[in-house]
Amino acid sequence: MINPHQLSTYLFRELHRHPTVSFIHHSVFAALLAVYLWPQLPTLEFSVWLILVFSGGIWQWLVSRRYNQQVAATVKPQSLSQFTSASLAAGLGFGLTALLLPQLSFETRLFVILMLSAVAASELLKLSAYPSVYGAFLAGLTIPLIIMLALVNDSPGWKIIPAIVLMVLVLYYSAIQRRRDLMDDLMARFGLETDASEDKLTHIANRRRFDMILEQTWALGRRSGNPISLIMVDIDYFKQFNDQYGHQAGDKCLVQVASALAECARRATDLVARYGGEEFVVLLNQTTRDDAYQLAERMRKKVENLNIKNENTPSGQVTISLGGITVFAEDYEKSANPLQLADNALYASKAGGRNRISWHQLGES
Ligand code: GH3
Ligand code: MG
Ligand code: MG
Repeated sequence: MINPHQLSTYLFRELHRHPTVSFIHHSVFAALLAVYLWPQLPTLEFSVWLILVFSGGIWQWLVSRRYNQQVAATVKPQSLSQFTSASLAAGLGFGLTALLLPQLSFETRLFVILMLSAVAASELLKLSAYPSVYGAFLAGLTIPLIIMLALVNDSPGWKIIPAIVLMVLVLYYSAIQRRRDLMDDLMARFGLETDASEDKLTHIANRRRFDMILEQTWALGRRSGNPISLIMVDIDYFKQFNDQYGHQAGDKCLVQVASALAECARRATDLVARYGGEEFVVLLNQTTRDDAYQLAERMRKKVENLNIKNENTPSGQVTISLGGITVFAEDYEKSANPLQLADNALYASKAGGRNRISWHQLGES
């Protein structure tokens, strides 16, 4: 059954996935603005601006980093309100730049408005797991700008306010839609999470559960147009491993490989399942080819780094071969059987020498 607490934990985790990357984005935007503001402002004002812009970002980063580290921790209402305040402050840090508009040249004003819009858009994906958090960020970012445009009798003036309001509404609406997609996905997963859908040896999802989720994700992806990636994974020379080290060692190896794969796929909507024998399959919703390929490479390396001895492979260790496919909305017709296509790519990895990744190119048969 669906456990609401588990659901909110997953959403909360989604909010705090890459705290440091987010902070780097924040800093890059601040640095770009600084390049333009520095020549036009007195040192004191510039320094105050710089401190404000970074304090919000640093606060948001610190809160996010703490929650990112305690992934399994329980989510309390105050955790969310704390992060909402931090996001409001991060937005406000940028938004207060608008107070400087009267002192800036026309070009720099336009640049500031453009940058604030870019900052607003860049936080959409990250914060949309909780539209209220994104709303707080947007409010901090745009309210000072709108007030200044209304008050200051200079161009660009109040006439661009409707455009900014429209942009905010569209962004907020997109956040709500994305949250809905995320919820659909999570409901589909948790609704099916029962004992009968778990693999008894490795404790990850089994093929039955995978087939059901794939069907739902496929239907959703077709409707929403989001890309879906699928990776088939197969342990190399596993028959020889069993023959040489015994079936029990084989089972132990399967468990280790399964947890290594599951650890790599950490997004709330990722699914790693045992497809059968020594084959696994990874379903990555809303994931582009590049991201999926990188994940596949992390998986390949992680299994190699487990350092499980297998004298029958060229490297002397247990390795995996992977085959992937990424399907975009327009390709859904061409790839009616994505598993078969991913399996073909896996076959190419095996034929190419194993311990490698191949990706199916749509258009080829
Ligand atoms: P390749 O590199 O081409 O993938 O060769 P392979 O030996 O890994 O592939 P093959 O399909 O010939 O052998 C798969 C082996 O996986 C056969 C079987 O002994 C082993 N196997 C399948 N399921 C289990 C399991 O649950 N436990 C153990 N210990 N071994 C298993
Ligand atoms: Mg196999
Ligand atoms: Mg194999």
